[in-house]
Amino acid sequence: MESAEDLKKRLFNEKKCGWDSVNEEQKDSIRVFGDEYIHYLNRCKTEREAVDFTKEILGKNGFIDIREKTVLLPGDKVYYVNRNKSMYIAVIGTSPIEAGLNIVGAHIDSPRLDLKPNPLYEDTGFAYLKTHYYGGIKKYQWTTIPLSLHGVVVKTTGETVKINIGENDDDPTFVITDLLPHLAQDQMEKKLKDGINGEDLNLLIGSIPFKDENVSEKVKLNILRLLNEKYDITEKDLLSAEIELVPAFKAKSLGFDRSMVAGYGQDDRVCAYTSLRGILNVQNPKKTAVCILSDKEEIGSVGNTGMESHVFDTFIAELLNKTGENRPNLLDKVFCNSKMLSADVDAALDPIYVAVSEKNNASLLGYGIGFNKYTGARGKSGASDANAEYVAEVRSILEQNNIPYQIGELGKVDVGGGGTIAYILANKGIDVIDCGVPVLSMHSPYEVTSKFDVYCAYKTYETFLK
Ligand code: MN
Ligand code: MN
Repeated sequence: MESAEDLKKRLFNEKKCGWDSVNEEQKDSIRVFGDEYIHYLNRCKTEREAVDFTKEILGKNGFIDIREKTVLLPGDKVYYVNRNKSMYIAVIGTSPIEAGLNIVGAHIDSPRLDLKPNPLYEDTGFAYLKTHYYGGIKKYQWTTIPLSLHGVVVKTTGETVKINIGENDDDPTFVITDLLPHLAQDQMEKKLKDGINGEDLNLLIGSIPFKDENVSEKVKLNILRLLNEKYDITEKDLLSAEIELVPAFKAKSLGFDRSMVAGYGQDDRVCAYTSLRGILNVQNPKKTAVCILSDKEEIGSVGNTGMESHVFDTFIAELLNKTGENRPNLLDKVFCNSKMLSADVDAALDPIYVAVSEKNNASLLGYGIGFNKYTGARGKSGASDANAEYVAEVRSILEQNNIPYQIGELGKVDVGGGGTIAYILANKGIDVIDCGVPVLSMHSPYEVTSKFDVYCAYKTYETFLK
C-alpha cells in the first residue's frame, strides 16, 4: 500500500525553493547568466539604451533590419526598430506564418523622472531642472539618491545629441534634496503619498554664478554656458529633448550568498533581457518566433511606440508580405492561431509586508518563473484571463522541460492588482498568459530579483520560442 508520505507527494502541489534542486554545475550557469544580466542593467537604463544595446547584440548574432530584406525564407532572422524606443524581433519558421506565431512580449520602459519641456530655472543661488514623474512611483523614494541624466536632445537641424551623465566614476552626480528631520514636523505628519509633492521633485544641478555684475540669473546662465560648450545646445533645444532621470547606482549581486540581483529598471528589463537571450538561441523553429520589446507600458501602452499602436501589426504584415504568403485578412487569422507569453514581472511575497499577499497564491522569490493566469484588480476588473486550455498547454511545456514555475496572483483580492500588455494581444485573438520574474520593491529605484528566477525566465522564453 502507498504510504501517506508517498500519497502526499503524488497528490500535493508541493512548492520547492529552486536552490534546493540545482547542482553545482547548474548553480554556475545561473551565476554566469546573472552576471551578464547585471551588465545589461548597467548598460541599459532607458528604453532608448535598451534598443541600442539590443540592436548591437542582434547584429552580432545574424539578425538583419527587416527593411534591408525583400524576401524572407525559413530560418531568416530579422528585427524592426520603432522610433528608437521599441522593437520587434523574428526568426522565420519552417511552417507558414498562417499556422501562427510563438510570441514573447516584454517592455523596456521603467518608472523614472522625465525632464519637463522648460526644465531649467534658478532659485536663491541654485540651478534646478524640473521633472514630471513617469509611471507609478513612490515619490519619497526618489529624493536624496544619486541620479543620472540619460536621453536625447534633438535640434531643429535633425541632429541628435545623446546625453548620458552621472554613470561614470569621474562624472558629477545629481540629487533631489529633502527636508532635514529637525524641520520636518509638518511633512512627517502628512500621509506618505503626500510627503513629497510631484512639483517639488526638482533636480539640483549647480551653484556657481556667471561672473558679471549686471546680468541676472547668473547660475542658470553658467549652467547653459557649460551645456553649450559640452553639447552645443541652447535652452530652446531642451524643448525638443527627452531626458530621463534614473538612479545612478549600479546593479549588483545581492546578499552574502550573491543569490539575488539589486538594480534599477528590472521591471521589465529582466524579462526583456531574458526573452532577448532566449530568441538568440532559436534556429529554424517550426513556428515563427517573435520577441516584442515594447515602450510606454508603465503609462498604459499608449502612443505609437506603445503596444496599443498598430506598428506591431504592420511588422507581422511585413513578414507575410516578404514570405510571399499574404492575402486579404490573413493577419487576423495569424493572430487567432498565435500563442504568447506576456513577459512582465510579478510581485514577489515580501515577508516584511506579508499582509498584502495571500500566501497560497503569491509568487515566492527563488521558486521559479511566476505566472499570473489573470491580472486585474477587485473582481478581476480589467483582467486578461488566460484560458484553462492554454494554461495546461504552457504547463505541459514547462513540466516536460523541467523548468520550475509557480502560478499565482498579484496581491490579496481586495488590496489591488496590476495590468500588462497581455490584454492588447489577447484582443487580437492571441492566446496569452502573463509570466515573469518575481520582484521585491517593484517600481522603486532599487528592485530585487532572484538569480534563480531570472535563469528560469530565460529557459522558459527560450523553450517557448523554440
Ligand atoms: Mn512591467
Ligand atoms: Mn511596472
